[in-house]
Amino acid sequence: MSQSTSASAAPKAAFESDPFAAAYPETREFWQAGAEGRFLLKVCDDCQRAHWYPRSMCPLCGSDKTRWVEASGRGKLYAFSAPAKAEPPYILAYVTLDEGPTIMTNIVDADAASLRIGQAVQVSMRAAAEGRMLPFFSPA
Ligand SMILES: [Zn+2]
Repeated sequence: MSQSTSASAAPKAAFESDPFAAAYPETREFWQAGAEGRFLLKVCDDCQRAHWYPRSMCPLCGSDKTRWVEASGRGKLYAFSAPAKAEPPYILAYVTLDEGPTIMTNIVDADAASLRIGQAVQVSMRAAAEGRMLPFFSPA
């Protein structure tokens, strides 16, 4: 019997063979964390504000002094829409994160009729159709 001792035998995370993720190497840390179920944001060391989506330059002040931080995962429902005839059904939403940015997302594990603007929501990292792990939200 033989056993492989090669480190390359470890299974690749889905994002590693994803052409979209590969096209933006500056977002590798985001996809890596997502594959581990963690939600990262970029924070600017010059203006001290978080921004979304992740970029190497701060869109709020133009600084290139940005760093990754793990988001709290908490936010408030800013707006949502549930198309009545969508199949499968989904709830499109904007969520304002406790860190500041408002992000487009989907609400999961919820009935649209029970949602209220301003209610607390919590992140749930899930695989999007392409396999990349993205931040979805559910009622807190
Ligand atoms: Zn900034």
